[in-house]
Amino acid sequence: MYDIIIIGAGPAGLSSGIYASRLGAKTLILEKLTPGGQITLSSEIENYPGICDVKSGLELMACWPKQAKKFGCEIVNEEANKLTMENEKWKIITHKNSYEAKALIIATGANPKKAGFEGEIEYTGKGISYCAVCDGFFYRNKDVAVIGGGDTALEEALYLSKIAKKVYLIHRRDKFRAAPITQEKVFNTKNIEIIYNENVKKVFGNEFVEGIILSSDKKIKVDGVFVFVGMKINNELVKDLVELNKWGEVKVDLNMQTSAKGIYAIGDIRENSVKQIVAAAGDGAIAAINACK
Ligand code: NAP
Repeated sequence: MYDIIIIGAGPAGLSSGIYASRLGAKTLILEKLTPGGQITLSSEIENYPGICDVKSGLELMACWPKQAKKFGCEIVNEEANKLTMENEKWKIITHKNSYEAKALIIATGANPKKAGFEGEIEYTGKGISYCAVCDGFFYRNKDVAVIGGGDTALEEALYLSKIAKKVYLIHRRDKFRAAPITQEKVFNTKNIEIIYNENVKKVFGNEFVEGIILSSDKKIKVDGVFVFVGMKINNELVKDLVELNKWGEVKVDLNMQTSAKGIYAIGDIRENSVKQIVAAAGDGAIAAINACK
């Protein structure tokens, strides 16, 4: 029987584990992969406060599990498959065990969808990115491509147009699904060139991306490719228990409390998340402090 069980050991979950265990709560983190979260796939991080040199995600996250364990937090490598309420306690079933807790903190995140072109996986972190705020700065005065036609792709193309020299916005149809006002801003931005009715067939380069080849075989030289073709919100465990918004993100209040008493949601799974390490860590602290209260 735990006071708090945290599901997911990315920056949000680990920060929550550090705070909850240090506050004296008997705390367990369940993680299906290795602790650290999807940020461990990033090769360069320079906007996390307190680091003066560029670090890889692996380097940045290396100490977080150790720090949580130092205060007594347990971390087990098990996937939470089912969640129920029994006798006023939350019960979690994994492939191996079942656990009970008074409060739950859900930190299972969200994953950007892949566009599916040749070289996408190979060049991720080497010119292919899924986050303009994280990586846009590396492309100052360079040419980049943005893939997608939704709100995220157009908003991020606008953001990148202020940093990059030129942004190619590549969409597979001839109509965007983004809000008309956002489309208008894109149409009025001089350094965004829109390419309709094309998919990216492959990226090419050596160590880093040097360009893309479109389905029409047109070749475009770019230094970076930003993919925004939708997100998969990892809400399977809680989707029938807590209120979600229309995109499947978990609704929370300022305490990170969901609509179900005793369930908190933090990091990329919650609505309005800015999907940044520092924000996820902040969410973790807020949820842990409130869950302990
Ligand atoms: P989205 O609306 O699902 O758009 C995904 C885009 O990627 C679509 O244009 C889609 O093309 C394209 N796409 C999908 N798979 C692709 C592939 N394999 N190759 C190339 N293109 C592909 O996703 P989103 O932009 O991340 O937005 C998700 C939700 O959040 C939406 O409901 C959106 O309105 C909302 N959102 C709102 C705001 C805001 O209100 N400010 C900001 C961001 C997001 P098709 O159009 O041809 O399907």
